[in-house]
Amino acid sequence: MNKGLGNLINKINEPRGHWLEKAIVSYQRSRQWPRKHTGFFNPSSCGKSTRLLYLDYAGLSTSSIDDRGLDYMDSGNWAHKQYASYFEGANILVAEELPIRIGPPDIPVPISGRTDAILRSPSGEEFLVDVKGTNAQKISTLKHPEIEVLTQWVLYSWIFMVPKGGILYVNRSVDPSPSRKVFDLENDDGSVIVSFQGQQVHKEECLLQNTVNRMLEVYNNYKASKIPPRCGKCILSCEQRTVCDRLDNKP
Ligand code: SF4
Repeated sequence: MNKGLGNLINKINEPRGHWLEKAIVSYQRSRQWPRKHTGFFNPSSCGKSTRLLYLDYAGLSTSSIDDRGLDYMDSGNWAHKQYASYFEGANILVAEELPIRIGPPDIPVPISGRTDAILRSPSGEEFLVDVKGTNAQKISTLKHPEIEVLTQWVLYSWIFMVPKGGILYVNRSVDPSPSRKVFDLENDDGSVIVSFQGQQVHKEECLLQNTVNRMLEVYNNYKASKIPPRCGKCILSCEQRTVCDRLDNKP
């Protein structure tokens, strides 16, 4: 890229507005990018294809999330804190934001992350909960948690040895209703059974084994400096397109 064009792009991307807004946006951006290779998988991205998982693991993935998107993501983090205080107030909190950093030889792949909370259910069992911020429309229409969410949950369920739990979706917009939706989850020997209001609505077979196999493939590929094949259906608008084309030596 020529220097003049580079300067112009930097100028366009410069935060705008009051110095206070600029300071906030600069800080937000500095936390997000560039990503680095940490040597660990983050459970939140383990539901992705091997190519995408590789880009995240290798610290190569890019993001086109704008400043508004960063704000929205951060408000999700506040939702976790807000709900942790509710759990504590309701006297059902066993532990919140438990960090984990584990790898071979204890488990086949290195994983680093943080659960939202472990609660105590009315029957006295531990209940591993993940809080997800979303909007009213999604809360109304969602039939079961997305595969990425189930993948993240089953990894934590396995590592923390808590076989039961759930996903609590909370409405982050100010629409009148509904404000929350809860799915119950059970880790059935690595498959995940999803129930809603006492009825089973979905089962994700062999999710844990399939996920660990995919991570293992990426882990071994990375050590052997091999790049996993492109996603079966390469999407034209994928934000990793430039990185992928560069890795595959496409113009
Ligand atoms: S650009 Fe295509 S191959 Fe690369 S991560 Fe996106 S969808 Fe997958």
